[in-house]
Amino acid sequence: MAAANIPVELGFVEKRAPWKLRSKFFPSKVGGNPAWLRLNNLPERSDILCNTCRKPLIFLMQVYAPIPEIESAFHRTIFLFVCANGKCYKRFDNQNFVVYRNQLPRQNEFYSFDPPEYNEKTSLDPSAEKYQPLCCICGCAASLKCSKCSEVDYCSEDHRDCDWRWNHQSICGRSNAEAGSKRKKATNQFLLPEYELVTETEELPSTGQEKSDEEKMKEYRQFMQSAKAPKEMQDMPLDDLDAVMKKNDKAFNKFQKRIKLEPEQVLRYHRGETPLWVSAEHIPSPNDIPDCVCGAKRVFEFQVMPQLLNYLSLDSVQDSIDWGNLAVYTCSKSCEKGGESYVKEFVWKQDFSDDHRQ
Ligand SMILES: [Zn+2]
Ligand SMILES: [Zn+2]
Ligand SMILES: [Zn+2]
Ligand SMILES: [Zn+2]
Repeated sequence: MAAANIPVELGFVEKRAPWKLRSKFFPSKVGGNPAWLRLNNLPERSDILCNTCRKPLIFLMQVYAPIPEIESAFHRTIFLFVCANGKCYKRFDNQNFVVYRNQLPRQNEFYSFDPPEYNEKTSLDPSAEKYQPLCCICGCAASLKCSKCSEVDYCSEDHRDCDWRWNHQSICGRSNAEAGSKRKKATNQFLLPEYELVTETEELPSTGQEKSDEEKMKEYRQFMQSAKAPKEMQDMPLDDLDAVMKKNDKAFNKFQKRIKLEPEQVLRYHRGETPLWVSAEHIPSPNDIPDCVCGAKRVFEFQVMPQLLNYLSLDSVQDSIDWGNLAVYTCSKSCEKGGESYVKEFVWKQDFSDDHRQ
């Protein structure tokens, strides 16, 4: 199949009531807790650690991406975790990212065969906490409890300590009613802000649409002046933008041209095709992408754009959290191994080349 025949699906963030982002509705989402697909056999926390600082990674996003031709992938979600510590971010280094794939057939032990009804009043089950304790800080599988009151579950000593300092110290041993509202607040501060990830098909301008191109360019310039633009691009002299685009390397050029059409895109989904590279530097050769545990090759599935960083409310301590492109590669067969449990897939991180940092 030629790339031109398969359009790119673009992802955008939108605020949503939290109940709409629960497992029951198979959401694509950014931030908050993971809305697990398979509700048991969750990944062990010890497998979702940063390889640099060894701390628990935080949940960045999940993409619901069924593959209709594969029966066991009627439901299918990819989960991406990142390190919250800006010091762990090194150029072209993917040591502080973990990605999981999980999938289920339409007939499965957790969800009804028919699509869910969007109604807040009906039950929001099923949910993973019915199957195992979840960490009150991050929503990952928990294996520890508060050692004093044994009332609260944690995924790791790190999150237990973190909750103790932030919140639990003042409520440990008190009644649930007293403790409830306070705990909620602490959780929100720890997680990334939550959004739904909505997708739409990328429309490329065909020839003879000069005027609409101009309009888009105007929008793009306005966007570049807003705080939402990637840091690297905000600094670019706007009047020289066209000249800059011509001068810079081809890959970056192409990158800018494509994103200017929809400047707020945070995700580009194009399974089996090629990512939109941000520069000609650090593009993987086929040997750089390891095979799936089943032995099949991995293919590109989606990329997370740097624009997403603008929605994450990262404070100044964390401000070196940065990427030009997080390209996620998954099993080309979307094998069954991703059914019984969550299987790790692969992330390739590309940064902007130095020419484009000012
Ligand atoms: Zn780290
Ligand atoms: Zn946790
Ligand atoms: Zn306690
Ligand atoms: Zn596989």
